[in-house]
Amino acid sequence: MPSKITYAEGRLTVPADPEIPFIEGDGVGPELWRAAEPVLSAAAARTGRRISFLPVAAGLQALERTGEHLPRATLETLADRRVSIKGPLATPVGGGIRSLNVAIRQALDLYACVRPVSHVPGVPSPVREPGKVDMVVFRENTEDVYAGLEWPSGSPEAEALAGFLSERLGVSLRPGTALGLKPMTETASKRLVRAALRWAVAEGRPSVTLVHKGNIMKYTEGAFRRWGYEVAAEEFGGLTVPEAEAGPGERRIVIKDRIADNMFMQTLLRPAEYSVLAMPNLNGDYLSDALAAQTGGLGMAPGANIGDGVAVFEATHGTAPKYAGKDVANPSSLILSGALMLDHLGWRDAGDLVRAALRRAVADGFMTNDLARQIPGAAPCGTAAFGAEVLRRV
Ligand code: NAP
Repeated sequence: MPSKITYAEGRLTVPADPEIPFIEGDGVGPELWRAAEPVLSAAAARTGRRISFLPVAAGLQALERTGEHLPRATLETLADRRVSIKGPLATPVGGGIRSLNVAIRQALDLYACVRPVSHVPGVPSPVREPGKVDMVVFRENTEDVYAGLEWPSGSPEAEALAGFLSERLGVSLRPGTALGLKPMTETASKRLVRAALRWAVAEGRPSVTLVHKGNIMKYTEGAFRRWGYEVAAEEFGGLTVPEAEAGPGERRIVIKDRIADNMFMQTLLRPAEYSVLAMPNLNGDYLSDALAAQTGGLGMAPGANIGDGVAVFEATHGTAPKYAGKDVANPSSLILSGALMLDHLGWRDAGDLVRAALRRAVADGFMTNDLARQIPGAAPCGTAAFGAEVLRRV
């Protein structure tokens, strides 16, 4: 019988043989999981551990089997086992079910979306020096315009809200305005920045940059910036210093802030000056994909959704439906998310083994179509074959 991961007083206790739930996901999810799972199991075995992966249902497969996209039992298992990994889940645009990914993050209060972005040598990139990108995005995961508080044009809810805004706040809107809310709280903003600061301290990172659009959205994004500085000063005072007060060769973690549009430019022009980025939900979503593009695209971008005592690891990309079942999608994003999961279990040696094996496979010329198509004359390798090459090197 596999053992259970437990959590007490802010710490995970991880046995050498944990049971870890996985959601295969929709679209390319199942074939990516088939490539990634043996790599993660082998890295655990090589370092003296054993993972029992437990399949749990979500998405279209769950709908067929249980009549629900996200069965309650799945959420209970993810919460109970504390660490899990998932493939992408499809969400229709402009109607239909709400995003299952957002629902999982909200139900389990996985408040920090953590996306490390760095370049694997040999991976083609649209920028000249992708090796200068070494950033970790901490994106707030539960609030902002992702809270799901929006109402269609002409709906009774939108009309009622427009009426309230007009009568009580003197706000006049065009008839038939669709409305959405952007809630942001001190609690959620501070715990996200706290998580970013803890990571920066633990990993010896030189700076944390608060990315916001507070010049326009003063009381939401602007407050995020202020709350971020407060956490740094009040809880990490001796360890951090605001950029304006930092000296040459500063050894403390420098707290910077940048307006989001400028930050997009900074990441292209001066990437080496940034390390950990903390930001609200929507900006974080955009910027992590833009950063992923600099280091090879979504197929190379790992991620995790982390709360207090529960974490779900997942690739940054979606279901890539046009590639589903064709054995062409890149499994690296899921493999690297798995490596991040091994780190999270306290098995950094196993995580490093996976990253090193993947780097060697790429250095030896094995690449899926998303990368190979950018290199003249390069022959692409299929999803399964790439996974097998990484596995051989573990
Ligand atoms: P997507 O599935 O991430 O795909 C966008 C593009 O990124 C693909 O067309 C492909 O680019 C590239 N790509 C993504 N994953 C790749 C991989 N593993 N290997 C190679 N290339 C890859 O985004 P989308 O088309 O916007 O969304 C599709 C569905 O996924 C939607 O239902 C969306 O809601 C869902 N989604 C889920 C998650 C999640 O589960 N966390 C995240 C994002 C989106 P090229 O066309 O240039 O080859």
